[in-house]
Amino acid sequence: MPKIAILASLCAGALFAQTAPQTIQFDIQSLDKSANACVDFYQYACGGWIKANPIPPDQAQWGRFSELEERNRQILRQILDEAAKPDPQRDSVTQKIGDYYAACMDEKAIEAKGIAPLQAELDRIRNLKDKSQLAEEIAHLHRNGISALFEFGSGQDFQDSSAVIAQADQGGLGLPDRDYYLKDDAKSVELRQKYVAHVQRMFELAGETSEQAKADAATIMKLETELAKGSLDLVSRRDPEKVYHKMNKQELASLNPAFGWNLYFAGSGAPEFQSVNVAWPDFFKAVEAQIQSASLAEWKTYLTWHLLHSQAPLMPAAFAEENFNFYGKTLTGAKEMRPRWKRCVDFTDGQLGEALGRKFVERTFGAEGKERTLKMVDALEKALGQDLEKIPWMTPATRQQALVKLKAITNKIGYPDQWRDYSSVAIARDDAMGNAFRADQFEFQRQLNKIGRPVDRLEWGMTPPTVDAYYDAQMNNINFPAGILQPPFYDNKMDDAVNFGGIGMVIGHELTHGFDDEGRQFDAQGNLKDWWTAEDAKEFDQRAACIADEYSSFSPVPGAHVNGKLTLGENTADNGGARIALMALLNTIGASAKKKVDGFTPEQRFFLSFGQVWCANEREEAVRLQVQTDPHSPPESRVNGTVVNMPEFQKAFACKPGQPMVAAKACRVW
Ligand SMILES: [Zn+2]
Repeated sequence: MPKIAILASLCAGALFAQTAPQTIQFDIQSLDKSANACVDFYQYACGGWIKANPIPPDQAQWGRFSELEERNRQILRQILDEAAKPDPQRDSVTQKIGDYYAACMDEKAIEAKGIAPLQAELDRIRNLKDKSQLAEEIAHLHRNGISALFEFGSGQDFQDSSAVIAQADQGGLGLPDRDYYLKDDAKSVELRQKYVAHVQRMFELAGETSEQAKADAATIMKLETELAKGSLDLVSRRDPEKVYHKMNKQELASLNPAFGWNLYFAGSGAPEFQSVNVAWPDFFKAVEAQIQSASLAEWKTYLTWHLLHSQAPLMPAAFAEENFNFYGKTLTGAKEMRPRWKRCVDFTDGQLGEALGRKFVERTFGAEGKERTLKMVDALEKALGQDLEKIPWMTPATRQQALVKLKAITNKIGYPDQWRDYSSVAIARDDAMGNAFRADQFEFQRQLNKIGRPVDRLEWGMTPPTVDAYYDAQMNNINFPAGILQPPFYDNKMDDAVNFGGIGMVIGHELTHGFDDEGRQFDAQGNLKDWWTAEDAKEFDQRAACIADEYSSFSPVPGAHVNGKLTLGENTADNGGARIALMALLNTIGASAKKKVDGFTPEQRFFLSFGQVWCANEREEAVRLQVQTDPHSPPESRVNGTVVNMPEFQKAFACKPGQPMVAAKACRVW
């Protein structure tokens, strides 16, 4: 679902998550004491863990986040196993998640049906008579959750965060990003060849001859490459001004007259509306050129591919495995497919997330969890306030506005106050594909229904079991799902130093997003409005450029560099988050508290806890995918890239100038 909202999360979603952790807690045994904290702090904090935790075969990366995700997934499995028992007494929420999961798990039935559950959709595409019917067909596919050609939905108006308007955005690619189609290096060329081979095999599985499938795969590459050329790159998409082009319906239609936009609007189920944000108008000009030049037969091929591609995970094993071979094995380096139950738990979370999440919260999250998190948030907001007041480079006018914005940030903790109502979604125990379509229809309509209505400030953008957190610039709020509010991020049995290095850093990170290069462009009300003096903006940009240059110098795998501009917001948030979390710790325990635990001072334990959150092993393919598409830097860069800038760290570990963990020129924004 497209939402051109400015959301900044804590981490990359797990590419493929995995096997069972026994206990998850801050662990002094995970250190590598043979390493020198001042030479490579990541190795020092994580070396023991990295050695003891090889990547399971069905994973692309394996880290401390994955351990917790796996624990949550096991709780979800218990919930779903119980919910799936066909008891007539089940409440309606239990029936829906239980039967969705049971249908997904019923591999025998899925195999027996073969491609039949898609037949009606395949026939619709085959029977198109004229390119003028494309708009209606694409509306139909979008309603069923199939991404084709572009994305359509709703979002807050950048200039008036109280209004929800329609949104049209670029989309329609099968590779992870436009650059995959356009780059000429050997790796990119090889990936394109493998992608075309994958598309061909999918067409073959759907019944085409090899010859036809080969020709069709070439058509897909040709069409998608043209769409990629019309797409905006990921770094530019971080600039809100570049993805904000508010138009009326007729203006959109005139960018792209060969596409029957009025038929699309009617077919999509959108309510009557005036304004639409066309994120990147050039993309729709590229669509126009392709609608004119590609034949109807080529468009049928394109739509068929995206239908097969999007539904492959719920199709018979041959399709699901072929899908994994490219998107899992080739793109992320995972060796094996995950067990079916894990995939089905994740599909249920993805499609009926707040129904399943409600049961997860009942089982795991009490009032006490909410209270202790609020206390930490308070401490972190106070520390950021102190930091903003002290920052030497800000003029009083901008400082004043920054404090107003900080004060206006609202906190959402654990789970929604009001649960989403899925009662209109029919879920049948014997219809995995139909369930997926109906859940997608519900979600697409839910997004469109928001257009023209008051903003729902209670809505969540992540489900409760998610091990992540986010800041929403247009809502000006921070959000912490129940899934992350547990060890190793927060542990009642641990000292303050460990908890401030864990969840304290996470809270600080999200708060800082309100003041990173993207977030700072929005005001306290969430409007894209410049509240900075020119002088302060210049000071900010200089400091941000220091961070961008620093991270661009990191090369986590041969031939691939971190993109300092793509990751600037996240790196700024890591740096600011660690600093204010440490301030909050010292405010809480007193700056003179020196009680050692396990031989480490509170400051040392704070940094060790921060470092250990990111302990991970990653496959080379996954790192390449991450640096190309993910706004988050790889784990080692997140840890070392932050501590090198902190005199507080260097003091805690008695590092000397000239050592690798002491930056010659330390960067600091916040
Ligand atoms: Zn973030």
